[in-house]
Amino acid sequence: MNEVEYQKHYYPGTRNELVARLREQLSKFRFEHVIRVEHTAVKLASRYGIDEEKASVAGLVHDYAKECSDEQFKAVIQSEHLDPDLLNWGNFIWHGEVGAWIIGQDLRITDQEILDAVRFHTVGAPHMTPLQQLIYVADFIEPGRDFPDVATARAVAQTSLEQAVVYETKHTLTYLMANDRPIYPAAIATYNAWIGKRK
Ligand code: GDP
Ligand code: FE
Ligand code: FE
Repeated sequence: MNEVEYQKHYYPGTRNELVARLREQLSKFRFEHVIRVEHTAVKLASRYGIDEEKASVAGLVHDYAKECSDEQFKAVIQSEHLDPDLLNWGNFIWHGEVGAWIIGQDLRITDQEILDAVRFHTVGAPHMTPLQQLIYVADFIEPGRDFPDVATARAVAQTSLEQAVVYETKHTLTYLMANDRPIYPAAIATYNAWIGKRK
């Protein structure tokens, strides 16, 4: 795939410079995941007429904070006066919701749509722009994912981004409930908002 050339300053540097930051910040395993998410996101962006440069930046940075320590997340929740209920959850919520703030600081990204794409990438949101839908979906269907229904999720993503959001949301909640895992309240809000769009 041709790499996206950065021209719009969503990230204040080149794509190669951003990739170098991620290589430093992440384990090899997770670095390779974010590269696959970026490629998946850019392909979907091209298919659906969404800004490919935003898709590239958001895809690359979405898990930037995933390997931060619990202490680091808790310190940000306190210093930035984020919702104290966040303290009752863990890395899987923090790396998106709190990670967006860390990304803004560390990588000097200010575009709110991109930062919210990071915030929403794990549990979604009732209202997501096409870019935010695309990151939520690309993370779920990138070629390294191999859960049983991933082929269906990929096929749905080729025909409708919105239907792919519905499919993923339903699938994730079903999986969590089947495994006796707690459901983050925002994930239920996402489900309620999107299930009505099911065709
Ligand atoms: P990743 O960062 O690329 O691994 O993917 P995600 O950010 O989408 O998901 C991180 C983890 O959070 C996954 O293992 C999900 O199954 C899990 N997860 C997503 N929503 C919830 C939730 O509401 N409750 C719980 N307990 N886990 C969740
Ligand atoms: Fe993630
Ligand atoms: Fe991810």
